[in-house]
Amino acid sequence: MAEAAAVEESGSFDEVAVSNEHGLHARPAAKVVRLAQQFDAQVTLTNLTTGKGPVNAGSLSLVATLNAQQGHRLRISASGPQADDAVAALRALADRGFDDAPAVGGAEAGTAGQVLAGKSGSGLDVAVGVAIVADGEVELSGYQPGAAEVERERAQDARRAAEEQLTRLRDETARTIGTEEASIFEAQLALLDDAESLDVVFQAIESGESAPAAWKAALDAVAIRFDELDDPYQRERAQDVRSVRDRVLRALTGKSETTRDASGLLVVRELDAATAAAVDAERIVGIAVRAAGTTGHGVIVARSRGIPVMTGIGDVAVPAGALVGFDARAAEFVVEPADGGESLRTALRARAAEREAALAEAEQPAVTVDGRTIAVLANVGSVQDAVDARGADGSGLVRTEVLFGERRVAPSVAEQAEVFRAIAAAFGGKPITIRTWDVGGDKPLAFLPQEREANPFLGERGIRVFRRRPELLRDQLKAICQVAAETPVRVMFPMITTAEEVEWALQQLEALDPPEGLKVGIMIEVPAAALRIATLAAGLDFVSIGTNDLTQYTTASDRGNSAVAGLADGLDPAVLQLIDHVVRGVPAGVEVAVCGDLASDPDAAVLLAGLGVHELSAVGPQVPTIKARLRRTDLTTATALAAKALTLESASAVRTRSTDRVRFS
Ligand code: PEP
Ligand code: MG
Repeated sequence: MAEAAAVEESGSFDEVAVSNEHGLHARPAAKVVRLAQQFDAQVTLTNLTTGKGPVNAGSLSLVATLNAQQGHRLRISASGPQADDAVAALRALADRGFDDAPAVGGAEAGTAGQVLAGKSGSGLDVAVGVAIVADGEVELSGYQPGAAEVERERAQDARRAAEEQLTRLRDETARTIGTEEASIFEAQLALLDDAESLDVVFQAIESGESAPAAWKAALDAVAIRFDELDDPYQRERAQDVRSVRDRVLRALTGKSETTRDASGLLVVRELDAATAAAVDAERIVGIAVRAAGTTGHGVIVARSRGIPVMTGIGDVAVPAGALVGFDARAAEFVVEPADGGESLRTALRARAAEREAALAEAEQPAVTVDGRTIAVLANVGSVQDAVDARGADGSGLVRTEVLFGERRVAPSVAEQAEVFRAIAAAFGGKPITIRTWDVGGDKPLAFLPQEREANPFLGERGIRVFRRRPELLRDQLKAICQVAAETPVRVMFPMITTAEEVEWALQQLEALDPPEGLKVGIMIEVPAAALRIATLAAGLDFVSIGTNDLTQYTTASDRGNSAVAGLADGLDPAVLQLIDHVVRGVPAGVEVAVCGDLASDPDAAVLLAGLGVHELSAVGPQVPTIKARLRRTDLTTATALAAKALTLESASAVRTRSTDRVRFS
């Protein structure tokens, strides 16, 4: 238990803030643990915000119990010969946000379907094959236990075998996928080394348990600790613990990983990173995951390897060897399709051909069958995103808080202007839409620390923050004005709720004497803003609908909480009705764009065009696909489809009617 393992506090200490998005989840916690272990010192951590601890900073399972989330304050204490060095090193790590890169897929993550459609490496989202069912626990019944000494030896051997496998996986992943994904295995390796858990294992063996029973009990207990954490992202890390547990148990029982050399469509209870990294992408045609949730490391790794994934298939019975298939875009999974999987295979070929064709025509404008040009732009959070955005008609959203998210001190006006210039240049002088700092909610900025709030998404976010810190907004506006004098730029204010906020933001801008060509707009993300669009948008050049936030606020479903991912669906007719209200109610001459994730979904893009939105801004890799889809669209048909969608009762009813999906027979 945490208290039992607490070490004496004395000597050197310091206090730090947790600034990274998901707090001390497995990867940053593993970095803390590895660093703490390097010093000849006894180091403890206490979560001052919750009062949890002190716990041994050298134990991953104990650090996890701190439940340290973004905004929490931690006390680092150390005693021993290298106490000062240990504290200084941990402070430096905390100051760097624990070297935690933003969650892959985090900023763009919407509903499960959108994530898969937008981010999957192949982007095809269809798979069909023979089911390889690997969703059971490792079978221990045939295990023959020996004397305590033998069991101790076997427990050690299994630990070493698991360590070798994970080290190999880490190195292979770093080489073939990326270092960020590889760091997932660092966290798993740290679990194998966890002094606290090892003590539990060996004590259990001393008192007569077999090695598998001891390992299983110790790691199940750690997984439960993760399961009990408040942050849903941290909670999902329990699957890393179970993955390590199963690896050790397989080593002990001599069972091989069913997934390693198999061919077909893999069905798993949850997808851990090790499985996703180890499967042979040539043989595994897709992975169907029973659990919902799209932020798990396994989903991230599989997607980056281009393996189609569908999550949330639930408890449907899947006999091993049965023919199964899915279309993740339509969220449909079938067992033994009546046509032997032919419709899925046809869809697969069609989607691959479509993708090729879309890429070949990416640079052409998206003109609908009946001659209306829809601008398709790209959302960017880095200069590289802009360089990679093939065929985009500019940027409809530059997320400045992502662009400068790593900064510990606010970037100067000149630094900001330089980066904005580089983005504009990457788009070859096409317009870019710079959104002012959208800090708050799930997006921290280290140089703008915020008080912890009970409901951060309903607290000081976006424009609200700058009423108290106008100088930071003004510096950013200065940089935007500089660049707008040289190249087409639009500025956009986030999280607007009232006309008074718009007025205040415009005053800040006007005080800087903005250049003639600078276009000014606001984001529509709050239902109140959508409802009073007629008064709110008067005098502006454009509004851009942020469907990610508009959806979470309309459906009262936290966009980062996988438990309510089904509710937070941008195709909910209630959200579509608000978009329709904006399009119809906006004052004459004010353009309406959509830059939320809904615009990255080809089916939704057609609906949006049907609602009268003539500018969409999507994640970069989806731009060619969206353009190709719009070229095949007749706006008259799309308008009728959209009108019907407004009257339907649910997002799934809208999806059923509008999805260009596989028709299972
Ligand atoms: C949105 O809310 O839809 C949006 C585009 O902004 P972000 O996702 O950055 O909050
Ligand atoms: Mg938003």
